[in-house]
Amino acid sequence: MPELPEVETTRRGLEPLLLGRRFLEISHQDPRRYRHTEKALGREVEGVGRRGKFLLLGLSKGLEMVVHLGMTGGFRLQVTPHTRVAFRLDQSELFFHDPRRFGRIWVVERGDYREIPLLSRLGPEPLSEAFRFPEFLEGLRKSAKPLKALLLDQHLAAGVGNIYADEALFRAGLSPLRPGKKVNEEEARRLFFAIREVLGEAVAFGGSTLSDHTYQQPDGLPGGFQERHAVYGRQGLPCPRCGEAVARAVVAGRGTHFCPWCQT
Ligand SMILES: [Zn+2]
Repeated sequence: MPELPEVETTRRGLEPLLLGRRFLEISHQDPRRYRHTEKALGREVEGVGRRGKFLLLGLSKGLEMVVHLGMTGGFRLQVTPHTRVAFRLDQSELFFHDPRRFGRIWVVERGDYREIPLLSRLGPEPLSEAFRFPEFLEGLRKSAKPLKALLLDQHLAAGVGNIYADEALFRAGLSPLRPGKKVNEEEARRLFFAIREVLGEAVAFGGSTLSDHTYQQPDGLPGGFQERHAVYGRQGLPCPRCGEAVARAVVAGRGTHFCPWCQT
């Protein structure tokens, strides 16, 4: 599933294609998944932003197009066998490709996220100054949930998913199973900085394209961060720090990769 680095890379790819352009036609067969898209017709794109894993396109006259890529969604410059939505703009065309159809699009009054509850209760952006250690520490310490579940929850930091939760916990040397309230201040600080570091590097590398190749940048190029995963998807392979085998367990319903020796 695309996480913060993949969505941010998509945002950066879309910005030059969309900024200042006008939607002339938006066609699809599924008004339940792609909601109120007719409202965007004739509107100009004034901004291409992101919040957590959501893309936020600011449109003229106070509207906003919100896009969630779901599991396998992404934008392409050409039609594919899995094109779900076709956008005709004044100088170009763009296609929303989504084999598994978990992606969603909403056109709303700017900032009115009543139809999108997940977006209205996101925590701070981890790569912004809104992500602050005192609040992070407090959020961790008041919960008995395992660290992996806390990172996936979007409340401590928006946009972290399965890949980057596993990678951040490895860098911090913390077990994904450790309850939040059993983390001391120095450990919480390591995790706080590991989240920023892993996400920042992954954005710089254009995100992670896994072996299923579902995530691509709009120009069709893969990301580059998958080469740098220390534990994610590496069960049975040697830990880059100690050489013992990376383990896999299911935590918070998700496949979780960690080194049982380096992460305690
Ligand atoms: Zn290790």
